Amino acid sequence: AGKAVLLVTHDPYVVEQLSDRTLFVSGGRLVEPEPTPVGHLGVTGPRRESRGEPALRVRGLAVGSRHTPILRDIDLDLHPGEMLGLLGISGAGKSTLARCIAGLARPVAGDICVNGERLPVLRRRTRQQIGRVQYVWQESAAAFDPHRDILDQVSATGIRLRGLDRARARSAGAALLADLGIDAEQAVRLPAGLSGGQLQRAALARALLARPRILLCDEVTTALDKPTAALILDHLDDYRRRTEAAVLWISHDLSSQLDRADRLAVLDGGRITDIGPPVALTGSSGPEILARLLQADSTGDRVQFRPAVM
Ligand code: ATP
Repeated sequence: AGKAVLLVTHDPYVVEQLSDRTLFVSGGRLVEPEPTPVGHLGVTGPRRESRGEPALRVRGLAVGSRHTPILRDIDLDLHPGEMLGLLGISGAGKSTLARCIAGLARPVAGDICVNGERLPVLRRRTRQQIGRVQYVWQESAAAFDPHRDILDQVSATGIRLRGLDRARARSAGAALLADLGIDAEQAVRLPAGLSGGQLQRAALARALLARPRILLCDEVTTALDKPTAALILDHLDDYRRRTEAAVLWISHDLSSQLDRADRLAVLDGGRITDIGPPVALTGSSGPEILARLLQADSTGDRVQFRPAVM
């Protein structure tokens, strides 16, 4: 009807789908980005350049008490589109770090910023809505209601967080599940009719349907064989490229999973002891580092590795 609409949003998808022109607010000023090709999700690019801020910024994070610290002095940036692999021996604090970022564990000190917003005190639901942080871990697969159609449950985040109607959410959910190797017939079953690996993928699909800006994956392929796990990683690579979402990937699998990360961070003794590209871990050195990490678990030695490039 010839009306002009000013749409204020964090969501690059909304911008791409609806707007004719985009402006970014940066440091109190309006910044006009370079024109981006139509139909290309480049809108996050200019915003990233103009704001120059990471998707996730963790500073001075500490968890646990003085006598039994779990995490200390954690500084970490996660950039848009980046996959950061987090490794460490069992009990190093990887899940605790992810849970803090997701708002499920409460730090005793430090700041967590998502897309430039400081989020130390927000409840999980608020954080998911504002920052689009999704946390998937092994127990996510067990959280499905065994008596309800799995596709309905996967679609629920699309309805709740993106305002899709049920039909659209189900079709988006089915497409996602298909990408993750689950066909429509499996998708409409009750969870009891699916394998552990299928449920793991359904949990990941449910998180992806929220179109997270930050996806925290905590051992999400443990029930999958290597080719299927590789399919999941391929899908996430594609998702990151299309959306500039950042992925934190927690896994013990150095040789076929963590070497795909842009950077690796080593968590040891509650601190990040090394961070950098996984150059030093590619090829045969991956399993060797893992063996050393596992050995360190039993001997109490601290592991050091130097990434070739920082
Ligand atoms: P894994 O590889 O085995 O999953 P992780 O590196 O993810 O291990 P966390 O699960 O984060 O390690 O646990 C880190 C440490 O924090 C462990 O010593 C654990 O016992 C402790 N911990 C975790 N959650 C709690 C909690 N809710 N209360 C007290 N201690 C906890």
